[in-house]
Amino acid sequence: AAKAAGRGQFSFYTESMEARVVKRLGLERALRQAIPGQQLRLVFQPQIRLDDNRVSAFEALVRWTHPELGEVPPQEFIPVAEEAGMIHDIGKWVLHQACKEARAWPDRVRVAVNLSPLQVMARDLRADVAHALATSGLPPERLEIEITESVLMGDSHITLAKLHALRELGVRIALDDFGTGYSSLAYLRRFPFDQLKIDRSFVREIVTRPDARAIVRATIEMANALRMETLAEGVEDERAVEVLREHHCGSVQGFLISPPIRNDDVLDFLRARSEAPEPAPAAQS
Ligand code: C2E
Ligand code: MG
Ligand code: MG
Ligand code: MG
Repeated sequence: AAKAAGRGQFSFYTESMEARVVKRLGLERALRQAIPGQQLRLVFQPQIRLDDNRVSAFEALVRWTHPELGEVPPQEFIPVAEEAGMIHDIGKWVLHQACKEARAWPDRVRVAVNLSPLQVMARDLRADVAHALATSGLPPERLEIEITESVLMGDSHITLAKLHALRELGVRIALDDFGTGYSSLAYLRRFPFDQLKIDRSFVREIVTRPDARAIVRATIEMANALRMETLAEGVEDERAVEVLREHHCGSVQGFLISPPIRNDDVLDFLRARSEAPEPAPAAQS
């Protein structure tokens, strides 16, 4: 019986490995149809400044709805796109679409776009960003690029040159998920990010755990000293906002303010906060 069970476990194990590989290949094949099949769309999550309570930007987040698989979360398909070499096309689509959609917003509201480390390493990054700005007509200062710390782990000279080239276009650069990567504080001196986004894993525990609060506070103080703005990600309750305010955090983003919304709802969101003009009244007949 023990032997049978052992064999059973073994075959169960290999089956699940196989199942995973099959699923991965299926996902990859399906993903190839995402752009041509118009299955991708963007949703936008507001970022709010704490000093004046106004919307500074919306972060563009990609969504993929497959006809049979349904909604596949980005944390599942972005890694597949990266491994299968599809992230460049998807990333370009996101960049163009985000710039285009943001054109309809009030002038002072920026759009933040996530870039995969592989996109940052690609030779034509600067040209891609310049092209997205030119074809959409979005002023460069209304675009913010979000990169993660892993970008800074590769060849740092090349990476820094690429980030400087982007900055020369006039776009802002934010460091996403700060504190979760293999951070070296040295690169914060070498590259002046416009904003540090403090990862949700610290923000989530800011009210209940003194250690998380200490890390957030130290991060904000350091960023302020280096003249970088700060944003706390994943803010879910009002008490967290109070703590962040006490520690002079610049902005907040999270479900407390709003989940990511469709662009159709962005202007209504701003109007409800009196941050966009009411639509012109319909013509009298
Ligand atoms: P991220 O850039 O750190 O984006 C924040 C994620 O946290 C989003 O998940 C957002 O919906 C979620 N979030 C926001 N507020 C809260 C909150 O209060 N509580 C909780 N629990 N979650 C919150 P999403 O949209 O599923 O995206 C996950 C990750 O996928 C992103 O993390 C980003 O790394 C990646 N991603 C999304 N869109 C793109 C894209 O267009 N390009 C690339 N390269 N990566 C993307
Ligand atoms: Mg992000
Ligand atoms: Mg983030
Ligand atoms: Mg995060």
